[in-house]
Amino acid sequence: MAAPPTASADDPTAVSLRLQAPDAALPDAQRCLMCLRRCSIATGQAGYCHSVVNRDGRLYSTIYGLLGEYGIDPIEKKPVRWYQPGTRVLSLGSLGCNLRCGWCQNWEIAFADARTPPTAPRMLPGRVVAYAQQHGCAGIAWTFNEPSIWVDYIYDCAQAARAAGLYTVLVTNGMFTPESIDLLAPWIDVYRADFKSLDDRLYREHTHVAGADGIRDGIVRMARHGAHVELVTVVMPGYHDDEHLARMARWIVETLGPATPWHLSRFVPYAHVTDIAATPDASIAAAARIGRAAGLRRIAEGDWYEQDHA
Ligand code: SF4
Repeated sequence: MAAPPTASADDPTAVSLRLQAPDAALPDAQRCLMCLRRCSIATGQAGYCHSVVNRDGRLYSTIYGLLGEYGIDPIEKKPVRWYQPGTRVLSLGSLGCNLRCGWCQNWEIAFADARTPPTAPRMLPGRVVAYAQQHGCAGIAWTFNEPSIWVDYIYDCAQAARAAGLYTVLVTNGMFTPESIDLLAPWIDVYRADFKSLDDRLYREHTHVAGADGIRDGIVRMARHGAHVELVTVVMPGYHDDEHLARMARWIVETLGPATPWHLSRFVPYAHVTDIAATPDASIAAAARIGRAAGLRRIAEGDWYEQDHA
């Protein structure tokens, strides 16, 4: 059983991470075990996501309950198409990220530095459930920025949500460690994960990590825990040719099964990546044909939700 969070002595809004361990190689450092970066953080320093700090030898989250963005959405907007369609979710996002993809649509909050005194509102777990119920939501989603840097808050919220009969959704880049998946999985109903690539090149060139092995392992691990898994691939010119898409589709069929939903989205130049052309609609249709030929039965193409509700 994970210990409950405790507040930092000099910042009552910061809570001690459940998932941390001493760094055996560096006596002054603690290792954060929430995401696959596994940052080693010395006293007075912060991790890559800027939301975890080492204060006097312990790691604290500075974003517990801190909302960079929130709102009420149809679950289809996450996008999740094959879990309780027609219901609404309370969507919660915080500040910071562990990948910082250059084309991020939410870069204002994902690239934010949560070490500085935050001005965003806070919503603690008990209030989250009440807010969701008051607004007719059937579930809660952690989305907008990356939830694998927000594990303690999600753990506390998700248990309260389950007790109140609400479902729970993680909308993630897949950077959860095995430890954080095993901690959260009993309380998570839906794992909506990015499946960016089977090859490491895209991750190396755009997300500042070496590769995707741990991300794929996490998807499989969450599925084995029993979560409903939906995958999203942003089809990018220069990174997803037919052969690569066919391998990705086969991996889904062989690893997770042919009923696994696969969302195929267009890349759109944005933020810090404007030198790659937008994906033509025809490429999404072609990718969907490749997926169906591999045996996948649930493929969502491009802006399917907007088209269905135009
Ligand atoms: S959540 Fe990830 S990026 Fe942030 S400090 Fe922990 S290991 Fe580093």
